[in-house]
Amino acid sequence: MKNLRLTALNGGPPRRTIIRVGGVSIGEGFTVIAGPCSVETEEQTLKTAHQVKEAGAHLLRGGAFKPRTSPYAFQGLGIKGLQILEKAKKETGLPIVTEVLDPRDVSWVAEYVDVLQIGTRNMQNFSLLKEVGRTKKPVLLKRGMYSTLSEWLNCAEYILAEGNPNVILCERGIRSFDTYTRNTLDLSVVPAVKEVSHLPIFVDPSHGTGKLSLVEPMSLAARAAGADGIMVEVHCNPAEALCDGDQSLNPEMFASLMNKLNHMDACMKEIAKI
Ligand code: PEP
Ligand code: MN
Repeated sequence: MKNLRLTALNGGPPRRTIIRVGGVSIGEGFTVIAGPCSVETEEQTLKTAHQVKEAGAHLLRGGAFKPRTSPYAFQGLGIKGLQILEKAKKETGLPIVTEVLDPRDVSWVAEYVDVLQIGTRNMQNFSLLKEVGRTKKPVLLKRGMYSTLSEWLNCAEYILAEGNPNVILCERGIRSFDTYTRNTLDLSVVPAVKEVSHLPIFVDPSHGTGKLSLVEPMSLAARAAGADGIMVEVHCNPAEALCDGDQSLNPEMFASLMNKLNHMDACMKEIAKI
């Protein structure tokens, strides 16, 4: 962990970065970001936004620019998607998290949203990292699917070095030999990040497993491992989703997950006292 001047604790006293987004303090308590993989229509996004808000989510996610494996797959609605997210924020009060793919889009996309997401495929896109580093917007930096913790922290370092201290790390699974899950969710990286860095660390159990049945247990496990929050895909009607429907929770499942996470609060506080 050499040359991590800004992201590492460097043997100094333990401290945590707290990032304020709207009324939410990321890095303090447990924060839940929820919403569809992609913004598909106004109706789908607003409906899902109200449902996740009702269940207690703190921020709304939704992709307007989608990094798809195939160039023929749905690529997102672009600016129209951002306008829909803006409306969802107006109606629900939930701050917005959305992915930005291209350095040329960073400054104008930043005007629409509250948190800029850098996806796994772009973790080491250094010009994109520098560009988001020049804004003051919080950045959710997903772990590259082939990246070590050190490489990941170096990418966060790029953002901090440009003058933006508001970086949230997000573990989203790494590639392994197992084909049962979409990725292998590396929950051990959560306490590892806490050992070496002051940045908040989130977990994405949706892309991390790619399996609906594993999203709830891995969300609860992320909380137990000490994560500062999760980012989870929720769709008002997963069967109809244009992207990642089979890993998206429906609103009832999400409400049940929130209930369980809330019950873990007291338990985590008790454990911290021991
Ligand atoms: C996403 O969160 O929408 C996404 C594309 O995730 P990842 O970059 O982790 O694949
Ligand atoms: Mn997705």
